[in-house]
Amino acid sequence: MRYDVIIVGGGASGLYCALTLASAQGRGWEWAENRRYLILDTGRSDMNRALFNNVPGIPMGTKGRELLDRIREQIKFYGGVDFLEEEVVEISGRKGEFKIRTKGGREIEGDYVVLASGFHRFDIECEGVEVVENPRSPKPGRVMVKHDGNFKVRDGLFVAGLLAGVSSMFTIASGTGVQVAIDILSEWAGKPIVIHDVPEED
Ligand SMILES: Cc1cc2nc3c(=O)[nH]c(=O)nc-3n(C[C@H](O)[C@H](O)[C@H](O)COP(=O)(O)OP(=O)(O)OC[C@H]3O[C@@H](n4cnc5c(N)ncnc54)[C@H](O)[C@@H]3O)c2cc1C
Repeated sequence: MRYDVIIVGGGASGLYCALTLASAQGRGWEWAENRRYLILDTGRSDMNRALFNNVPGIPMGTKGRELLDRIREQIKFYGGVDFLEEEVVEISGRKGEFKIRTKGGREIEGDYVVLASGFHRFDIECEGVEVVENPRSPKPGRVMVKHDGNFKVRDGLFVAGLLAGVSSMFTIASGTGVQVAIDILSEWAGKPIVIHDVPEED
């Protein structure tokens, strides 16, 4: 199957990216309809080990594991997003014709790719990706992928979350996923967009 956007990593930033992309549907925007999105994930998000007391609006004492499930459910509400538990090992090609190869031997095609695989390592074979030490990690040995300052690695290829070199705080990591999604949607729209809902009149 072919996807409009393939997200590598289904932790905080990957899920928020997918949620924002999916939430663009059903608003009368022709360019947002009938899009297909894919999250490839190995299930090792840092959220699995976290207990959240300082995430705004999230009840104190929420386990990261519970929040992962809740965000996945929220994404399913909008639809259009497939989930695949597979490790990505190679990304080739360019915007409009990316090819992803998984450890299990699958080959998947996509127009855009978002790297959201966390800061523990980056061993995916991918042309044009420069991996450096993560300057905001309190622990040594964490990595980031260089980008243009706006999360773009090269045309069609974005990076989000800790792999983009931001601090390891849930809202910061997830916010970069949202920004990348909005930037992709804005490219499709041909102008800057935001996705806002308002309450119905009382
Ligand atoms: C113990 C702990 C406690 C924390 N507590 C807090 C807190 O109290 N408050 C707070 O704000 N933040 C907290 N955090 C930080 C927060 O969890 C992270 O900042 C956030 O999860 C980072 O999001 P991410 O998307 O960059 O990476 P992750 O959430 O780690 O997601 C990366 C995903 O990519 C997947 N992946 C990796 N390689 C591949 C591949 N090749 N193919 C496919 N998938 C791949 C991984 O399996 C993982 O699911 C805590 C973190 C930890 C570890």
